[in-house]
Amino acid sequence: MKFFNTLSGKKEGFRSIRPEKVYLYTCGPTVYDYAHIGNFRAYIFEDLLKRALVFMGYEVKHVMNITDVDDKTIKKANSEGRSLHEVTDKYIKAFFEDIDTLNISRANHYPRATEHIKEMADMVKILVQKGYGYQKNGSYYFDISKFNGYGKLAKINKNELRTGERIESDEYEKKNAHDFALWKKKKPDEPYWESDIGPGRPGWHIECSVMSTKYLGQPFDIHCGGVDNIFPHHENEIAQSESFADKKFVNYWLHCHHLTVNGSKMSKSKGNYYTLRDLIKKGTDPMVIRYLLISTHYRKMLNFSFETLAQSEASLQRIRDFLCELKDRSVEPGENPLVEKMKDQAMTAFAESLSDDLNISMALKAVFDFIRKINKLLSENQIYTEDSKRIVSAFKKWDEVLGILPEDEDTELEASIKEKIDRRNRARKEKNYALADKIRDELCKQGIILEDTKDGVRWKKK
Ligand code: AMP
Ligand code: ZN
Repeated sequence: MKFFNTLSGKKEGFRSIRPEKVYLYTCGPTVYDYAHIGNFRAYIFEDLLKRALVFMGYEVKHVMNITDVDDKTIKKANSEGRSLHEVTDKYIKAFFEDIDTLNISRANHYPRATEHIKEMADMVKILVQKGYGYQKNGSYYFDISKFNGYGKLAKINKNELRTGERIESDEYEKKNAHDFALWKKKKPDEPYWESDIGPGRPGWHIECSVMSTKYLGQPFDIHCGGVDNIFPHHENEIAQSESFADKKFVNYWLHCHHLTVNGSKMSKSKGNYYTLRDLIKKGTDPMVIRYLLISTHYRKMLNFSFETLAQSEASLQRIRDFLCELKDRSVEPGENPLVEKMKDQAMTAFAESLSDDLNISMALKAVFDFIRKINKLLSENQIYTEDSKRIVSAFKKWDEVLGILPEDEDTELEASIKEKIDRRNRARKEKNYALADKIRDELCKQGIILEDTKDGVRWKKK
């Protein structure tokens, strides 16, 4: 596989540290509010990456942190007059509900920052002992002039660094590349922890340095996030971890571009955001949101609008209708050798596209080209039972990567729908139209629409 590595600035062949195993760290949510679909663009890109690696035969060990103490979580708790945990527990629960709704596969570990405070203070202590960190008025800072490689990820010129100046806040612009906070001293109205380096709380960047290497070792294979994480967050993680351990932190850095609204980044602070819950309340199917977020290449900007959402819905519906038609159609026993050939071609194109830096547009093109070819054979009655099975199994395989056709086509539901359709057919044969209409209405209430076609009755979900 090949990936665009932000560190080298080019596409590189991927080689994992351990044979057939990939150790992956992705920056997780800061749990001070519901995640918006911009955040989910990042999490869905990471899910696609993970599923693609598995598809290619790797076993993936995935760690995603949960930032449950930082400037934003503390501010929210204070503004609501609630404890930090009351606030973060609520949004952690919501986060897991949302990732399930979007069919995002679970990580192996979700370490929480507040459960790793001691390790964070220990890392700061060692950074100070090694001369990379210093104390000022009870807080600790990283001295960026001491780390030779500072700026290598975000491509910052050495003479642009404002060495000797300090910044307390966790988020700041690239033009303000200052010494940054490793540990923030105890303040009134802020939670704090006692530690060997004094009472206080960790800076945001040290959280990820500690939690990634604790579970994945150093170096590990892939670290991901959105492009907004490159600076300062990931740059600072590299500075801390490489100064601490005197070895490379991460081999491949993959970053997804932003989800935008009218061209500007979707974010809480701008107020131009939709949560997953907002869109579901408006009647949007979560799988349409997943399709939308997955179907643009991760390094391209994706502008959110209700028109693009409608286009995604139409594309997903094409796949669903195709599979429904295939399942419902009664076909003759046998097989068509062309189908196997078409399936192999489509599988190869799909795999090659994903291997090329997750080229999802080409992967989806392979799927839709296959649908077009099979539809042609269907219209010519050239599809037989074995072919049907083969086609369905291809979609199952593709969906291990795409995750857009979850197993909600539950067989019990299908059986009960088929049974009702049979009853309706019998009623119609017996000219009992009142009963036939009653059954149609019942199904309609269940969200099932019937279509009378020349090949019999077909059904689909509303
Ligand atoms: P945060 O909770 O702000 O730390 O963000 C969590 C993840 O969402 C990070 O990986 C961010 O880079 C990513 N993210 C935030 N906003 C967007 C956006 N508009 N588009 C894509 N990714 C985003
Ligand atoms: Zn992080």
